[in-house]
Amino acid sequence: RQRSLGELLRASRRFGTREYLVTRESRLTFTEHYEQVAALARALREDYGVSKGDRVALCSANCPEWVVGFWAAVSLGAIAVGMNSMWAGPEIAHSIGLTDPKVLIADARRRALIDAPDLPVLSVEEDIPGLIDRYRGADPAEETVDEDDPAVILFTSGTTGRPKGATHSHRNVIAALWFNLLNDAVATQLGHPPTDRRFLLATPLFHIAALHNLAVVRLAAGDTAVMHLGRFDIDRVLRLIEQEQVTNWGAVPTMLSRLVELGDRITDYDLSSLRTLSINSAPSSAHLKERLRRTLPEAGQSLGTTYGMTESSTAATLASPAELREDPNTVGRPVPTLQLQVRDADDNPVPDGTEGEIHLRGAQLMLGYWRNPEATTASTDPHRWYRTGDLGTIIDGHLHLSSRRSDLILRGGENIYPAEVEDRIATHPAVLECLVFGISDDDWGQEVAAVVVLRPGTEVTAEELHAHTSAGIAHYKVPAKWEITTKELPRNAIGKVNREDIRKAWETSER
Ligand code: ATP
Ligand code: MG
Repeated sequence: RQRSLGELLRASRRFGTREYLVTRESRLTFTEHYEQVAALARALREDYGVSKGDRVALCSANCPEWVVGFWAAVSLGAIAVGMNSMWAGPEIAHSIGLTDPKVLIADARRRALIDAPDLPVLSVEEDIPGLIDRYRGADPAEETVDEDDPAVILFTSGTTGRPKGATHSHRNVIAALWFNLLNDAVATQLGHPPTDRRFLLATPLFHIAALHNLAVVRLAAGDTAVMHLGRFDIDRVLRLIEQEQVTNWGAVPTMLSRLVELGDRITDYDLSSLRTLSINSAPSSAHLKERLRRTLPEAGQSLGTTYGMTESSTAATLASPAELREDPNTVGRPVPTLQLQVRDADDNPVPDGTEGEIHLRGAQLMLGYWRNPEATTASTDPHRWYRTGDLGTIIDGHLHLSSRRSDLILRGGENIYPAEVEDRIATHPAVLECLVFGISDDDWGQEVAAVVVLRPGTEVTAEELHAHTSAGIAHYKVPAKWEITTKELPRNAIGKVNREDIRKAWETSER
């Protein structure tokens, strides 16, 4: 097996003329990709002095150059830093200060936000293609690395505070591949080798799910990644699936709710190439999963899900389509290469059926947070178990997430899970989406509040919503305060709502 990302890259040459990266404008085979990476790596070393351990930052919307830049950096033993392309100037400046890159690769929009006079900034539009042309055919600049050397820094979503730079070694990233490669090896032995798999990529590469599942796993397995570039637009994405005969799509819940919202318009597209669908990265309701199965009679039947985080390099648990049909609220079982424990507040494992904090251990868990030993120590126990901050319960071997520890609403003596309340509110036909959170309250400590976004053309009062919600869940869980709006909830790049921002906005406006 390969021990470093550089070895993995070299091994990908065997896939030759198969397509690796496809966009609406460009197509790159494995051979072409390898040649581009080799040339760029040479250029980074010769012209910019990048060597082992240096950081190479990527600050751009999704594009093939992002992927080429990533592989060039890691093949040199440098550390690829994936910066969030939604960041504003001060956030970019903070991450530059934190990771101190030797060079930065950026697109035009991001370059306008970068204020770092001493830092060489390479444009994806001209500099990168120019360097690739200049060094084409030169010997690749390779570097031997240790499995435990850092390879990549990716930032967490910042849902609970400032994003932290999760640092992964070559071993961590490759360990997160084992499961996929093993699966393929077994399938091949059983006479069903995976062939002609074409995966859609519509989420940002600076998030672990896209980088890992689409850039790394596809390169290791010889599959094609079909990249949707630019803003997410359900019609353009479905057209791309049709045109490029996409077979697999790992999506975030917001994308799939846009899909079901199309209603009958879905028949405008021929989606028959789609074999599997996966709903990942953020909570999704049983209702949405059910609607997906109805909307996409074929691919909807093969709907699976994963749960994971930046720190775990990718999926920590997964639920197969059968498991998800049986129990729409599970995120499945831990991947076989990882250990999972649910623990109480004193750090003792709890029996199945009891809720606690999810802990993970295994080779795919990060080395730690970049230049943040306090956060690293706080998130890892002495035996290298990572504390996820997520609460959950194991029922019949299957994990059920209840909430982030920090989202739990404590009203009087009762714990209230926002997701449970949101799921109930969302069954009202006028509700497009909603968000439930705790606000401080003199009587109860915390009181339940809800922001509800209505479907266009509908109207509803807080009293009606209150009555509808009360009919489905215990009275103490029903929001006491409501905001009804037609404005969409603010979301980050991966479609997660920042609950904390909304809660703070609510408290400062003193409703
Ligand atoms: P930060 O750590 O900076 O607060 P974040 O935790 O949102 O941000 P990520 O690493 O991108 O950053 O997200 C991981 C988290 O996303 C998990 O800890 C979990 O709370 C949530 N999550 C991931 N997958 C799922 C899923 N299938 N269902 C529900 N929640 C999920
Ligand atoms: Mg987190």
